[in-house]
Amino acid sequence: MDPHAETLQRLRNTFNSGRTRPEAFRAAQLEALGRFLRDNRDRLLGALADDLRKAPFEAEVSELSICRSEINLALNNLHSWMQDQPVDTNLATRLDAAFIRKEPFGLVLIISPWNYPLNLAVVPLVGAIAAGNCVVLKPSELSRGVERIMAEVLPRYLDPSCFAVVLGGPQETASLLENKFDYIFFTGSTRVGKLVMAAAARHLTPVTLELGGKNPCYVDDAVDVQTVANRLAWARFFNAGQTCVAPDYVLCSAGTRDRLLPALQAAVRRFYGEDPRRSPDLGRIVSPKHFHRLRALLGSGRLVIGGQTDEEELYVAPTVLVDVKEDEPVMREEIFGPILPILTVGGLDEAIAFINRQDKPLALYAFSTRSQVVRHVLDRTSSGGFCGNDGILHITLTSLPFGGVGPSGMGNYHGRFSFDTFSHHRGCLLRRPGLEKLNSLRYPPYAQRGLGLLLRTVEIQRRECCALL
Ligand code: NAD
Repeated sequence: MDPHAETLQRLRNTFNSGRTRPEAFRAAQLEALGRFLRDNRDRLLGALADDLRKAPFEAEVSELSICRSEINLALNNLHSWMQDQPVDTNLATRLDAAFIRKEPFGLVLIISPWNYPLNLAVVPLVGAIAAGNCVVLKPSELSRGVERIMAEVLPRYLDPSCFAVVLGGPQETASLLENKFDYIFFTGSTRVGKLVMAAAARHLTPVTLELGGKNPCYVDDAVDVQTVANRLAWARFFNAGQTCVAPDYVLCSAGTRDRLLPALQAAVRRFYGEDPRRSPDLGRIVSPKHFHRLRALLGSGRLVIGGQTDEEELYVAPTVLVDVKEDEPVMREEIFGPILPILTVGGLDEAIAFINRQDKPLALYAFSTRSQVVRHVLDRTSSGGFCGNDGILHITLTSLPFGGVGPSGMGNYHGRFSFDTFSHHRGCLLRRPGLEKLNSLRYPPYAQRGLGLLLRTVEIQRRECCALL
């Protein structure tokens, strides 16, 4: 007996009734989502503190504010996003209407992780609602506080005939995935991403996979080391390092490493004080399992900053490792914690060769005061996203698509890209019923003269090149 069958059928019936299609309905649901965030702000901040000891400042900027922005952007643009998009026609269809219609897929499943449990559930939800879908949301079971609010409070705001929250861990999610959905949007690890894609393949369901990986960060010799250290330490230790786009390791010359280390030490001290454990601004590791995984990684290379841990509090100090080899444990998996290994390379080409030996990452960073160095890294590598001279910030622009490539994921979202991700792009041609004479060229019995004329109306010709160029 499938425990989800009744819920899924209810949502499907609603979708088929057309209820979610009108702009006014979508806008009302987005407004309701905004009210959910406003009315429950303190409760959400409390849950994020309980789950990850997330500082209210970090929770505001990386969870609530991003959700609000996405909702406001969608509400501001919903009308234009929903319009049919006219496209070019050829001579044969010049008098007809050709356009792309963005239509909802139907019943969408969104599966979220625990590290930004509000953001990574609500932001895709905004896209799915804006595009006119019915949604099943499966929050992470590891961020229990936020999961509870999603299960108990969110459904009071959204139309229950169109939205449902389903709870559970790996087993329950696997059973949920046996059902047919019209689209699956998954954020999580590469390992589970493969399971989700395999489950989706059984129904030929399209997927977006927002996955993880190891994000390289190249630091050139031409840098202001304190600026680099501040930005690197912020990006690595934000949310206790549990950020999918955090710089995972640094590649630089031995000389730059030696200049960077005291600057990193100074940044950590300035951000979190002499004893980071007492700082209210440093988060905690989500679970004992992840704590033990991280503690084991501290054995790689040579420890130069931090390294302290406290199992009771699930605390790992902001840590920097040097003399790390490519095949050591800390370099064999995504770190996803407040540990930053620094590897030395002979120069820019060696760094690029190193990066290109690894899986394509979700994010890639390059620091240099010489813009050609940053551009060179950009030109010679591939990654989901790229940011020169800072960490993480590229994902805060709703004008940029956010997503991975290869093992770091497929598809993208944020802003208008979310609307497009959750919409089927239906190619439409509305022909005129009359003017049949003009169509007779294509009908049998075929005539050679007719073929020439026909091809002239439909075939694309190479544009004339300008002689001056
Ligand atoms: P995870 O893959 O363990 O879990 C993600 C979701 O999948 C959870 O809701 C979980 O309940 C479910 N799940 C877990 N095991 C499952 C299974 N066997 N079958 C079906 N569902 C299962 O990931 P996580 O630990 O929650 O999150 C950390 C990972 O997510 C990291 O790799 C990180 O890089 C990645 N991540 C990526 C992004 C992004 O936007 N690309 C954002 C945040 C996190």
